[in-house]
Amino acid sequence: MNNSVLVPSKQMITRFAPSPTGYLHLGHVVSALYVHALGKYFEAKILLRMEDHDRSRCKKIFEEEIYKDLSWLGLEYANKPNFELDPEFRQSDCLPLYHDALEKLNTQGLIYRCFCSRKTLAQRLGKADTLEGELCYDNYCRNLPKNKQPTAPYVLRLRVAPGDTFFFNEWNRGTITQTPGLQCGDFVVFDKNGCFTYQHCVVIDDIRHGVNLIVRGKDLLSSVGRQLYLTQVLDGAPAEIFFHHKLVESNNEKLSKRKGSFAIKNFRESGYHHEYVIAEAINISLNRDFRRLNLENALELIIKSLEAQKSKRE
Ligand SMILES: [Zn+2]
Repeated sequence: MNNSVLVPSKQMITRFAPSPTGYLHLGHVVSALYVHALGKYFEAKILLRMEDHDRSRCKKIFEEEIYKDLSWLGLEYANKPNFELDPEFRQSDCLPLYHDALEKLNTQGLIYRCFCSRKTLAQRLGKADTLEGELCYDNYCRNLPKNKQPTAPYVLRLRVAPGDTFFFNEWNRGTITQTPGLQCGDFVVFDKNGCFTYQHCVVIDDIRHGVNLIVRGKDLLSSVGRQLYLTQVLDGAPAEIFFHHKLVESNNEKLSKRKGSFAIKNFRESGYHHEYVIAEAINISLNRDFRRLNLENALELIIKSLEAQKSKRE
C-alpha cells in the first residue's frame, strides 16, 4: 500500500464547491463536513468556490441562500472572510481564464469540433442511449475535414492520448489507475449551449487555487484520470490526495425518511437549531443517532471514522 497519501509534503489547500442550481440539502452538508474534517486533519486552508459555469441552471438567489446556510451552520472559509465571496472564486466571473486555457489547448492541436449527438454515438457503439452511464467517444470527428463538417451545433472536445494512464492516491482505496482513453475517450470541454464544462472549469480552478486535497462525492471518482490529464496538458500541479465520500442524494430513501429532502433553508427558516441539521448529516453518513451535535464534535467524529478507515487499509 502506498502510504504517501498520509504524508502531505506542503501546505494543504482544499475546497467546498457547490453549484447554485438549487438549495443546499443534507447531502451537501455531509459533503461540506467531509471537506472541513479532512481540512482540519491536514491543517489545510479551506476555500469556498461557487461552481456556476452552467449559466442556464444557476441562479443568484441560490448562491445567496447557500451563503446563509453555510454561515448558519458555522462553516467558514479562508476566501470569504467578510460575508463577500472573492469573485476569483465564482466561475461566472472567470470566463476569460477558461478561454485562455482553451486557447492554450488549441495551440497544442488538442481541440476539435464534434457534431455527434449522444444518440448517434450510442448507435455507432451499438449501445442503448439510456442517458445513464458513460459512452466512450469513438473519436469520429477527430479528423473530419473542414468541407465534411456539417453546419450544425457542435461541442469542443479535447484529444486524449490513447495509452496515457494516471495514478493517484485515494484515501479509502489506495493507489488507483485510470486510463481516460479507454474510459471516456476525447472529452467535451465546451458544450453546445456555449458553456465551458465542469471538467474544464474545475481543473483550471484547482490549478490556480493550488488545491492539492480534493474532497468530493463518489460520483466524481471516475473523473480523476481525465482531470489529471487536463492538468498535465495545462502544465498544472496535480492534487496529492483525493477523498471520495459516499453520496447522499436528495431522493435517497433513508434521507427522505429523515426529512432530508428538505432544503437546509427550510430547516433554518422553520426554527430548527443548526446543531440538529449537523446531527442529521452525521447520522446519515456515519449511521449514528444524535439529536443534536455541534460542529466541532461532528468533525471529530468524521476524523475518527477516517482514521479507522486508514488503519483498516494499512
Ligand atoms: Zn463527433
